[in-house]
Amino acid sequence: MLIVQKYGGTSVGDLERIENVAKRVARTKDAGNDVIVVVSAMSGETNKLIEYAHHFSKNPSPREMDLLLSAGERVTSALLAIALKEMGYDAIALTGRQAGIYTDDVHTKARIDEIDTTTMQNHLKEGKIVVVAGFQGITREGEVSTLGRGGSDLSAVAIAGAMGADLCEIYTDVDGVYTTDPRIERRAQKIDKISYDEMLEFASMGAKVLQNRSVELAKKLNVNLVTRSSFNDNEGTLITKEENIMEQPIVSGVALDKNQARITLRNIKDEPGIAAKIFSTLADENINVDMIIQNVGQDGTANIGFTVPENELEHAKNVMEKLEASENIEFDSNIAKVSIVGVGMKSHSGVAGIAFSALAKENINIEMISTSEIKISMIVAEKYGELAVRILHEAYGLDNRS
Ligand code: ASP
Ligand code: MG
Repeated sequence: MLIVQKYGGTSVGDLERIENVAKRVARTKDAGNDVIVVVSAMSGETNKLIEYAHHFSKNPSPREMDLLLSAGERVTSALLAIALKEMGYDAIALTGRQAGIYTDDVHTKARIDEIDTTTMQNHLKEGKIVVVAGFQGITREGEVSTLGRGGSDLSAVAIAGAMGADLCEIYTDVDGVYTTDPRIERRAQKIDKISYDEMLEFASMGAKVLQNRSVELAKKLNVNLVTRSSFNDNEGTLITKEENIMEQPIVSGVALDKNQARITLRNIKDEPGIAAKIFSTLADENINVDMIIQNVGQDGTANIGFTVPENELEHAKNVMEKLEASENIEFDSNIAKVSIVGVGMKSHSGVAGIAFSALAKENINIEMISTSEIKISMIVAEKYGELAVRILHEAYGLDNRS
């Protein structure tokens, strides 16, 4: 098998941890696999380099920032290769450029256009373990570029896709994806397999195991992704095509997002073009609107409520006041969004009813609802957010009973 392994910042956080990573890589090689390793910078390193730059300038040039930030990953890739060689393994460290990773020229948030796999392939053929510095590439003009924060996940997935790897393992300090945040519900269980689309819903709701862009890329390139811990031998979570998952639970997990705020516009004119005006103005201001509800109009007026990320509330407030769409605008940041996610919903009816009854039984009021094919989201008062998660986790049979 060809396996791409990516180790995040905490996994290579100090020299002893790099040594442990070397041992794990060696074991994978000993088992008869070809191995490409992608590494992040040591944890905290990228932030430190950014601070250094800000010591000199509020606005350091993006080109020089890329040169600076790419250094963190070079350090860990070289150290890991040195450690592997010392253990008797033939290893070679490569920068993004040496690995053939070509990007566009948008410094500090470049996109990978193409990977020329010749060099990596040749080294693998010679039996070497290839260690690639993550998070970076090279523009067509030969300038060093970086892929945006958290970008080494993206490097790993792109390399796995281009090389046709059998597996791309992303190592972090958590065991995988859970049915909900174990800090909220201790009976949360690790999920063995989950589809790309479910993972994307979880990731966009703040389950921070994987960068969203890298899950999207894995889906596009059909890369089997595993997220697991580098601190134990537990098996992790496989993120794969829906067809590859035989037993599909109706609901795979419950997520909570407390960073939501709501704006309600009352007594707006109930006529064509009003919603268009409100939401195109918000879009022009780059404000991310999530849920929207409008009631059935009466006497020529209607109410519209919508949610935005809490940190965009001030901005959204100003925009709405300037627009004068309504004389009666309310704001509320004491709300939370609870969502249940599962591809099994597509083929089952009555899934939403279970959530509504379970919350009703505990007297939790649902203030807004939105649904998609694989997700049902509900807005509740923020103080009930965690309780709602526990209630729903139980209602859908997700509690670990062992
Ligand atoms: N070192 C980079 C960062 O901290 C990239 C990564 O770790 O994925 O954002
Ligand atoms: Mg990272």
